[in-house]
Amino acid sequence: MGRTETPTDTAVTPGEAPDKSPTTVDAAKEEARAAGQPKPGQRAEISNLEIVRHYFERAADRLAVPDDVRVVFWSPYREVTVQIPVKRTDGKVHVYSGYRIQHNGARGPYKGGIRFHPEVDIDEVRALASLMTWKTAIAGVPYGGAKGGVNCPADELERGELEQIARSFMSKVDKVLGPTRDIAAPDVNTNAQVMAWMMDEYGKLHGHTPAIVTGKPIALEGSYGREAATGRGCVYMFREAAPHLGLSPAETSFSIQGFGNVGSWAARIMQQLGARMVAVSDANGAIRSDAGIDAHALHDHLAAGGRITELPDVEPIDPGTLIEVPCDVFIPAALGGMIHEHNADRMRCKVVVEGANSPTTPAADEILRDQGIYVIPDVMANAGGVVVSYFEWVQNLQHFRWDEREVNDKLGNVMRRAYREVSARAREEGIGLRDAAFLVGLERVVEAARTRGYV
Ligand code: NAD
Repeated sequence: MGRTETPTDTAVTPGEAPDKSPTTVDAAKEEARAAGQPKPGQRAEISNLEIVRHYFERAADRLAVPDDVRVVFWSPYREVTVQIPVKRTDGKVHVYSGYRIQHNGARGPYKGGIRFHPEVDIDEVRALASLMTWKTAIAGVPYGGAKGGVNCPADELERGELEQIARSFMSKVDKVLGPTRDIAAPDVNTNAQVMAWMMDEYGKLHGHTPAIVTGKPIALEGSYGREAATGRGCVYMFREAAPHLGLSPAETSFSIQGFGNVGSWAARIMQQLGARMVAVSDANGAIRSDAGIDAHALHDHLAAGGRITELPDVEPIDPGTLIEVPCDVFIPAALGGMIHEHNADRMRCKVVVEGANSPTTPAADEILRDQGIYVIPDVMANAGGVVVSYFEWVQNLQHFRWDEREVNDKLGNVMRRAYREVSARAREEGIGLRDAAFLVGLERVVEAARTRGYV
């Protein structure tokens, strides 16, 4: 496959390190390192890139992909790093690093979200871009894989600062994006408003182009159902698996780690089915209640500026013990590496539906398997977002809008098909769902690349 030169802008002002501002995160990591292992609520020391590579290599081994060809499918096609200087309200210029990584485009235009988080680094973006390549293939949507990120402390930023970062990022990566080239979307700490700023910035440079980003506000040609799509997709996957596990959705209890976009929608939709949320966390704390925590009330409480631990009639708990609360379904929907070898054996659930990307390390995955916990892996479970992003893009290209029911029905069809195809493959080969999912994804990408004549 022909590689294009990477157009790399200057990453930082000479002599100055990018302002990652992760002081508290670093302190926590240092403390964990000193103790020789991550604390229960913390992320594992294995990187997202190592996690994704582990599963990629297993699939490539199983498919007997030769080493030279394997490099084409593992390494990213194009990596862009840009400098994002922002004058903040403290009067100082803070310099952040922005990344856009296009992993593989054999199956269609690159597609992937943009994350704002102080821990974003190029390896994490590489991992997430690669995951998008396999995810779009498993879901059967005609995209390649990409991801973007800016290492800014999104939680501390004021609205005007966020807008500057969003616009600056887009104005610097616009040359490698395009509605038939690479399409962006929201991820951690980016939302419909951020997408609107990015679309507007791209429009200033190239003319009005709604199909350049998905996850836009409804008022700006966003799709009905996109905001809830990833959480809804997780619930569709669980519903598909439930009968085989002897579970009835209306009678299940569940816990959510990370009550953001994915987690809060998954919780609200699970609750619509009659399920009961018994524990939930966000970056500020964790709570439990055996009687059930109302997902709508929690959403409204947080939207009004309340802290999770201040919700009435719940018991605040140490976030590290969230995984120990007995429940049927555990939905990790925060960051990667949160379920690791030092805490996986304390999980008390029957099913893990991975809303987050790479929430489970390979060592933890084996512990869960030994404990008989069924895992629906990220690469298929959280594909609902990119599926409805695809629907949004299709609507934008046609300048036509579908109603929400149509979007949700079509999403259900895609998720059910993906579940059935991957679970059939898992049965045929006598392997777990995650290995089967990577196998199906890699096989489809290899086939597309071979048919194009790339390899
Ligand atoms: P978000 O920013 O809306 O929510 C993240 C949530 O996690 C927040 O509630 C935050 O407080 C919480 N959180 C952060 N650190 C935590 C910690 N240490 N413990 C507990 N909670 C913590 O982001 P999102 O869009 O919901 O994404 C969540 C995950 O889902 C990410 O891994 C993302 O890559 C993945 N994902 C998102 C989408 C999407 O469409 N948004 C699609 C696929 C996958």
